[in-house]
Amino acid sequence: MTNDRDTIFALSSGALPAAIGVVRISGPQARHCVEALARRCPEPRRATLVRLRSPGSELVLDEALVLWFPGPRSETGEDMAELQLHGGRAVVAAVLRALGQIPHCRPAEPGEFTRRAFENGRLDLTAVEGLADLIGAETEAQREQAFRQLKGALGQRAVTWRQRLVEAIALVEAGIDFSDEGDVPDTLLVPALDLAKELLGEMTAALADGRRGERLRDGLVMAIAGPPNAGKSSLLNRIARREAAIVSPYAGTTRDVIEVHLDLDGYPVTLLDTAGIRETSDPVEWEGVRRARERAQAADLVLWVVDAAQDEGSAGATTAWIIRNKIDLAEGEARKDAPETGRSFRISALTGAGVDELLDALAEHAAGVFTGTEATLVTRERHRRALEEASAALARALAEGPTGREDIVAEELRLAARDLGRLIGTVDVEDVLDVIFRDFCIGK
Ligand code: GDP
Repeated sequence: MTNDRDTIFALSSGALPAAIGVVRISGPQARHCVEALARRCPEPRRATLVRLRSPGSELVLDEALVLWFPGPRSETGEDMAELQLHGGRAVVAAVLRALGQIPHCRPAEPGEFTRRAFENGRLDLTAVEGLADLIGAETEAQREQAFRQLKGALGQRAVTWRQRLVEAIALVEAGIDFSDEGDVPDTLLVPALDLAKELLGEMTAALADGRRGERLRDGLVMAIAGPPNAGKSSLLNRIARREAAIVSPYAGTTRDVIEVHLDLDGYPVTLLDTAGIRETSDPVEWEGVRRARERAQAADLVLWVVDAAQDEGSAGATTAWIIRNKIDLAEGEARKDAPETGRSFRISALTGAGVDELLDALAEHAAGVFTGTEATLVTRERHRRALEEASAALARALAEGPTGREDIVAEELRLAARDLGRLIGTVDVEDVLDVIFRDFCIGK
C-alpha cells in the first residue's frame, strides 16, 4: 500500500434522489476527511450518527451515518470511510464538493476502488471479474455464478494448481542440480511428471464444461425469425410485455434486429426479433436482412414463426422450433403437421393463446442448457484461454516423458505456472486490467 497516492471519493449508491446516498472514501486522507466533516472519527466499523459540517465553517451539510474502516482490513485494503447521507441531489453535491476541497482528495474514476482492492491483494483478478458480473447479473442463475466467482471458485482453484506446479518445478530443478554429479535420478522427474499429469487432468475436466459458464454470463440467444408478417414482432412484444418492436401491417418495417432481455426461471435469454428474412432489392432492407440472417445463424435457438393459415417453409439447418401463429384466424381444425425435427407450437400473438406454454418450454430448454453436474469454474473467454495455454504447456512437459530433458520439462511447467499467474493477476496483467475495469461504474 502506498501512502503517497490520492484519496478518492465517490457516490457509490445509485441514481439520486434516493432515500440514502452512500459516499465512499478511500486512501491515506480518509480519516482526515471524516474528521474534517464530522469533527471526530467514529470507532472502527461502528455505525455512528454525526452531523457533517463544511470544513472550516459551522454550516451543517447533513446528518449522516458514518462508518470508519481502518486499513488494511477494508475493502480496498486502504483506510476507508463510508458516509450514508440523505439521498438528495443537493445534499450529496454539497458533501462531494466539501471533500473535493480537502488536499490530496479527488473524485474516483470508474472501478478505482476495486482496482485498489486488487492492487492491495484484497481480490484476485477472477474475483474482480466476479464482482463486475455480480453487479451486472440480471437473473438468479447469473447472480449465483458471479457470487461464486467473487468468492474464489476459480481463483482459489488456480492458486492451488499453481502451488502444486511450483512443487513439481522444485522437484525437476533439484534433478537438474543433481545431474552435474553424473546420474540424473528419475526419482525426481517421475513424481514431477505425475503431478503434471494430475493437474492436466483437473484442468481438462474444468474446460470440458460445454462453455456453460460463458453462456450463462452472456445469456442464451434465441432468434425470432420467419417470413414477413408472420407475427414475429407481435410475438416479441407479447413476450416482453412492452413495446420493444414495431408492429405494423406492412411487410419489412422491422429492418433492424431488436433484442429483449428475458429472465426465464432465473436463466438469462436474449430474444432477437430479426427483420423479415426474405429476398429484397432495397439496399437498406438488404442490410437488415443480412444482419438478421447472421444473428439468427449464431443463435442458440431459432423460433421460426409462420402464419398457421399459410403454413410456410421451415427454418433450414439451425435448431429451430416452429411457431404457428395467428391460430385465432386459422379456420377449421388444425391441419396435420408435416413431420418436423424441432418442436412445434400453435399460438396467437394477438390473443396470447399458447404463449405461456411456449415460454414454459423455453425456460425448460434454457434450464437444460445450463444445468450440469458441476458448477462451472470458467466464466470468461480469458479464463478459458489461460487454462488452455497452461494445459498445452503441461501436455508438452508430459510428452518429454521420464527419459526426457529436465530443462525442457522445467521450462514447460514454468510456462504453465505463468499462465495460471496471469489468470489470477499476479503476473503480466497490465494489458488486461484496463479491459476488465472498463466494465465498472464510478464508486465501485
Ligand atoms: P412480422 O413482420 O413477422 O414482425 O409481423 P408483425 O408482428 O408485424 O405482424 C404482422 C401483422 O399480423 C400485424 O398486423 C399484426 O397485428 C398481425 N398479427 C400478428 N400476430 C397475430 C395473431 O396472432 N393473430 C392475428 N389475427 N393477427 C396477428
